[in-house]
Amino acid sequence: MDKITNLIGASPFPQNPVVPQMLEGSATIRFRCRKGIACWNACCGNIDIALTPYDILRLKRRLGLTSSEFLVQYTLPYEMEKDGITGVKLKPVENGSACRFMTADGCDVYSDRPTACRYYPVALLSMRRQDEYTDRSSYALVKEDHCLGHNEPRPVTIDEYRKEQGLDEYDELARGWRQLILKKKSSGPTVGKPSKRSLQLFFMACYDLDRFREFVTSPGFREAYDIEPAFMERLGADDVELMQFAFRFLRQVMFGEESIKLKADAVEKRLARKREREEQAGSKDVPTGGE
Ligand code: SF4
Ligand code: SF4
Repeated sequence: MDKITNLIGASPFPQNPVVPQMLEGSATIRFRCRKGIACWNACCGNIDIALTPYDILRLKRRLGLTSSEFLVQYTLPYEMEKDGITGVKLKPVENGSACRFMTADGCDVYSDRPTACRYYPVALLSMRRQDEYTDRSSYALVKEDHCLGHNEPRPVTIDEYRKEQGLDEYDELARGWRQLILKKKSSGPTVGKPSKRSLQLFFMACYDLDRFREFVTSPGFREAYDIEPAFMERLGADDVELMQFAFRFLRQVMFGEESIKLKADAVEKRLARKREREEQAGSKDVPTGGE
């Protein structure tokens, strides 16, 4: 049966229980946000913004932080589903709900603002049907009383609006992450509950890219995976390449979809190291006598 199995939204309102009307990209909406409008900044004063891995990559670069520093200073984790994978939201100002990047002049990180901010007042609904392997997108319009942009006399299609907001790039680079989440949510018991280790890997690979880089360039990883030196060099230097590799790696770890070759002797070497460690631990336990 052609049944929608899941939805996730790039919306500032992920908790909103209302199921919105689905729109295609060719649908025309009426909207303009402009400086000087009476509701200026109202939308940034009360945020609930989930971040994609590419949002984090752009913001941490913009702020000159490592991904770990950015996560600690600017985000809060949240559970996307019970006992499941974790997402990350922008942390609002201390004791308030406003965005920390909001200024009287507008967004302080405008050219690197997150996907949900770009989409607003449109919400992206990414979904996967039971009989399809890939995801597809449709949209919904979020109408809030405080947002006066809907009263502006400007018709625009959602496709045009997405282009204006630079969303082709943002959506393309977050696709691998959305597919992972949809696959995890829709695969249910066939895949089973992911181990704690794979959930930790998910968090690191998706959100803490600089730490994932250390992991990928470590001797242990190089010993286990057969990766061409030139590609490994690119992973060390290029955040976007590394992020896309992270999604591939997670498909392998979480769903057994092998696309990264293991070295032939990797398993034996790992077992030998394990035995060595066990032997060392054992020899420490041996009583030395005379006590
Ligand atoms: S990041 Fe910018 S656009 Fe998004 S909520 Fe904050 S101030 Fe507003
Ligand atoms: S028109 Fe809407 S999006 Fe623009 S500032 Fe007002 S509330 Fe925010």
